[in-house]
Amino acid sequence: MKKTIRDYDLNNKRVIIRVDFNVPIKDGVILDDNRIKESLKTINYAIDNNAKVILLSHLGRIKTEEDKIKNTLEPVSRRLSELLDRKVTFVKETRGKELEEIINKMNNKDVVLIENTRYEDLVNKCESSNDKELGKYWASLGDIFINDAFGTSHREHASNVGIASNLPSGIGFLVEKELDMILPTIENPKRPFTVILGGSKVSDKIGVIKNLVQIADNILIGGGMAFTFLKSFGLPVGSSLVDNDNIQFCKDMLEKYKDKIILPIDVVTADEISENSNSKECFISDIKDRDIGLDIGKETLKLFKEYIDSSKTIIWNGPVGMFEIEKFSNGTKQLLEMISKTDSLTIIGGGDTASAAINFGYKNSFSHISTGGGATLELLEGKILPGVEVIDEKEA
Ligand code: AMP
Repeated sequence: MKKTIRDYDLNNKRVIIRVDFNVPIKDGVILDDNRIKESLKTINYAIDNNAKVILLSHLGRIKTEEDKIKNTLEPVSRRLSELLDRKVTFVKETRGKELEEIINKMNNKDVVLIENTRYEDLVNKCESSNDKELGKYWASLGDIFINDAFGTSHREHASNVGIASNLPSGIGFLVEKELDMILPTIENPKRPFTVILGGSKVSDKIGVIKNLVQIADNILIGGGMAFTFLKSFGLPVGSSLVDNDNIQFCKDMLEKYKDKIILPIDVVTADEISENSNSKECFISDIKDRDIGLDIGKETLKLFKEYIDSSKTIIWNGPVGMFEIEKFSNGTKQLLEMISKTDSLTIIGGGDTASAAINFGYKNSFSHISTGGGATLELLEGKILPGVEVIDEKEA
């Protein structure tokens, strides 16, 4: 068992918390502050326990000086201050004298947010390649390290693994919740256990399919990736997205697990990917050469409903249609509605499926909506997250 923030006496300690403030920002305006809100529990706990709270996060990718202007954490600092209802001192640099002086002068309950950790990527990708000196330097600014950035825990960066290697460490409430929801579910699911996989590419989900096909009772496949499976089975897919490199993989999976893998029987197709396209619904066997499959059809929804209604555990990763375009969002919306109505344990893997659930009004309708797409996928693949592995173990 990993240590958590509760295992430390935080009083008068400099507590470095790696949070995930990687929020969408346009022209300095935060479009969705969900990730900031998700980190409040851990930050408030540290404040309530008289810590000096030092926050670190990345935001976007930094490859040029211009990226730095676009991806400053300054707007996040302002929003965080509103949400905490207290002053947040924002330090415009990721290392140096000013930062060190501000930290040296901190009182208990003060909150400091350091600039985007990926500013350090401009030279030698120091943050993303877990530069040893950088991890050591950041660790020197604190007494205890808490990882509460689930969304980056599948990465080995200086701001998580680097710092944790040099300080007593624990996980925060958000990471604890994510692990507590996802791990027992795949280790010992209540059955029947149904997994729904969608999204665009088979290649991104190979590890998940390989692992979960052995654990789940059913795997329902939708989205762009369904067409690679359908093609491998010799069915027409028209001009739909096909991952040609993985046709053989899909064929092998279908041969080996033909009773478990459930494919769409009908689809919404269009002549182009746009709201103004000519679209129709048809059975898979009626897909014509120019048709692009962009959503699952009503018969597929009925079929999927039978599995969903009889399941005790449901994990869903990847939208079943191009839900960003209203015309092709019905399948994803109907599935959200269907799953939200069940009494089973329901988990939405992060990324696009989480955005769809939140944007279509289902934020509070599931047992758990993960905050990290990539990290969730790695857990579903059966992998151990480096950002968690490095954290100190509880004493037996
Ligand atoms: P992923 O990141 O692999 O989970 O893929 C998410 C993306 O898959 C979303 O942007 C969807 O628009 C896209 N998607 C879902 N269904 C389809 C489809 N039938 N054809 C192409 N893209 C799709």
